Amino acid sequence: MQLIDGTAIAQKINAASREEVARLKTLGFTPGLAVVLVGDDPASRAYVRSKDKMCQELGMHSVKHELPASVSQADLIHIVHQLNADPAIHGILVQSPPPAHINERAVVDAIDPRKDVDGFHPLNVAKLALGDSDAFVPCTPLGCQRLLIETGIETAGANVVILGRSMIVGKPLALLLMQKGKGGDATVTVAHSRTRNLADVCHSADILIAAIGQPYFVKENFVREGAVVIDVGINRIDDPASPKGSRLVGDVAFDEVAPKCRAITPVPRGVGPMTIAMLMQNTITSCQRFAGTR
Ligand code: NDP
Repeated sequence: MQLIDGTAIAQKINAASREEVARLKTLGFTPGLAVVLVGDDPASRAYVRSKDKMCQELGMHSVKHELPASVSQADLIHIVHQLNADPAIHGILVQSPPPAHINERAVVDAIDPRKDVDGFHPLNVAKLALGDSDAFVPCTPLGCQRLLIETGIETAGANVVILGRSMIVGKPLALLLMQKGKGGDATVTVAHSRTRNLADVCHSADILIAAIGQPYFVKENFVREGAVVIDVGINRIDDPASPKGSRLVGDVAFDEVAPKCRAITPVPRGVGPMTIAMLMQNTITSCQRFAGTR
């Protein structure tokens, strides 16, 4: 069984990103990422901190807008418009989930699609569906695909089952893996909460990708001998033995599933670091386009 080390693969990608940032700087361009955080959800705060820290590490420009949960939708969209017009900013993301009074779609629609490094704007969603190579693709699906490529796991002709159909992970990942070309050409099944015989559907997979947000949901009987398992889930569970009183686990019951696998990602140190690495890459790509070097 191969343990897929997402941290090591992400470090390699980040090293290449750091070099590209340095090259762009010599041309007078510094890739800039703006993150807008609404409210004080601790998990969202932690994600924003790690994105900011990675920008610093790569020599990128990073701006954080921390807004109170009471911010109006109009004020939030005004900030997005200001960032759209800011030439120092090449990537904009609004950390989800926003408070209930905010219409998240309207906020995402306000982002300039050329700066939509999360790939959530309808134009980028459509481009991904159309197979346009200039689409900004959501970072977690991109990270999953890259993990498979970097690990030498062939997707062409493989039966891939994706557990979860969200717009952040499952649906764009299905589009990505069924595209023609490298890291694609898979036969993709997307399963969700209404899927019948879920364990059997998952058991048919050469590559099983779990993205449902249910700790330890994928059990040994979901996975066939020799399958590849990618665990996207990040779930915080109580753990009195841990110094924090809780810890992060995936959607896969790792201990019982891993012995059956050809390869599997752990949680943490699996997909998580790849998501951030892909966000940095998307921001650099955007900067290259604005600089006219791509
Ligand atoms: P959502 O809650 O948006 O979507 C969950 C999906 O899983 C839905 O399609 C839902 O089905 C399906 N689902 C939920 N419960 C079951 C079940 N019991 N059986 C079958 N299907 C089920 O979650 P996200 O896609 O945003 O996130 C999924 C997980 O991935 C979370 O743990 C999240 O923290 C993690 N994540 C990790 C990232 C990373 O960087 N590693 C980035 C983003 C997310 P239905 O549509 O029918 O309701």
